[in-house]
Amino acid sequence: MSGFTPFAGRRIAVVGLGKAGLPAALRLREWGAAITAWDDKENARAEAERAGLTVAEPVAGGFDTLLLSPGIPHIRPRIHPAAEAARACGAPIVVDVELLFEAVRASGSRARFAGITGTNGKSTTTALLGHILEQAGVPVAVGGNLGTAALSMPILPDNGVYVLEMSSYMLERIAHVRFNTAVMLNLSLDHIDRHGDMAGYRAAKLRIFASQTPDDLAILGDDDAMTAEVSGLVAHTIHVSGEHACPGGVWAESGVLRDDAGVIMDLAEAPTLPGAHNAQNAAAAAAMALHLGVPRAGLPAAIRSYPGLPHRHEQVGVIRGVRFVNDSKATNADSTARALASHAKVVWIAGGTGKEGGIEPLVPWFGRIAHAFLIGRDGPEFAATLAREGVPHTVLDTLEQALPAAAAAAWAGAADIVLLSPAAASWDQFTGFDQRGDRFRTLVQQMGAA
Ligand code: ADP
Repeated sequence: MSGFTPFAGRRIAVVGLGKAGLPAALRLREWGAAITAWDDKENARAEAERAGLTVAEPVAGGFDTLLLSPGIPHIRPRIHPAAEAARACGAPIVVDVELLFEAVRASGSRARFAGITGTNGKSTTTALLGHILEQAGVPVAVGGNLGTAALSMPILPDNGVYVLEMSSYMLERIAHVRFNTAVMLNLSLDHIDRHGDMAGYRAAKLRIFASQTPDDLAILGDDDAMTAEVSGLVAHTIHVSGEHACPGGVWAESGVLRDDAGVIMDLAEAPTLPGAHNAQNAAAAAAMALHLGVPRAGLPAAIRSYPGLPHRHEQVGVIRGVRFVNDSKATNADSTARALASHAKVVWIAGGTGKEGGIEPLVPWFGRIAHAFLIGRDGPEFAATLAREGVPHTVLDTLEQALPAAAAAAWAGAADIVLLSPAAASWDQFTGFDQRGDRFRTLVQQMGAA
């Protein structure tokens, strides 16, 4: 939109010029703001200068709004100087979603906003809701914490919907964003260094509901106590579960998705959404879609055709009747527990840089493991736990060794799934969980082609 300058006369400091920050600074400049851009890293500053931005460390009084990258703390564990400057001059510290919301309203568009938060399941629920809306022909922009950043999204028409994954770091920095529908999926110990304590983390997450009105829909996960017991929200509030009935809400029991009006679908037909945790994600996405006007009859086909996200229980191949599943994103035992719980029997590949407690939390699921192949730094430690419980296992070193051994065990009849769900970070052997998952996918494809 040329000539659209909702931020004319505003002085915005943009600090943190990464994948989201740099395009945000350019977009805000296009929308009329006077921008001061800053990053603590020299090369990011150089890139901003090449893009023609004014690069300078923000000083108190030199700006009236601070757009601070969500990754940069403004209180704990230490205060960034830009945040100190903002405090000194009374400038609000905001996240990009706040400025997107402001711009969309200034444009006159009545496009709606859907917000998704929780400790786990955010990306899946965000992508699934985006997919359902797209299938229903609704103009959508999907992203936020993951994927497309808010200020890289277009101004949508009146019937459009922004589907935004919101981390607690982002929610700390919204003020006016009204989510027509918002969900808090679950809450478990995470990011305490930044929020101070569990109460601080919970308070940050609850901000997703803060600007809602009685016309809006608030959704609470019912599968963990801390989320289920939230009360007193202004919006119409419902609960969702992947395990048990939630009258007035949307839920799955034995994998069948339903609400008060009856059965929506059997989630056994949705191969990319296995397990009770994904049933909860599907219930949340369905509730949001219904609130946003998607016809009930459109839900089953849309949920069935959801393609899934890379590295999150992603099926990367079927070779001689064995499914190969890449769950590299499972970097802790909790996440791996979800994957193991989704299958009766698996050949399991695990290991890497384990978290404190190793795989002890997985003991209840050990009966699902036909044979484990262990890799990486903490493979031997994982092996000790498996040995104690009598689970068959083999200690190897690399994924390159583990995959053919696991495939051979599966083809010999141990199980019809080979699951990479490491229950460990990847830093000892890879640059991140995505590189580990990509490697697994490539190896499976090569094996399939051989
Ligand atoms: P996030 O974006 O919040 O990290 P993802 O959708 O990427 O969440 O899922 C990450 C992992 O969290 C999954 O691999 C799965 O193990 C687990 N998970 C997903 N959904 C849920 C849920 N509703 N409740 C609990 N755990 C979940």
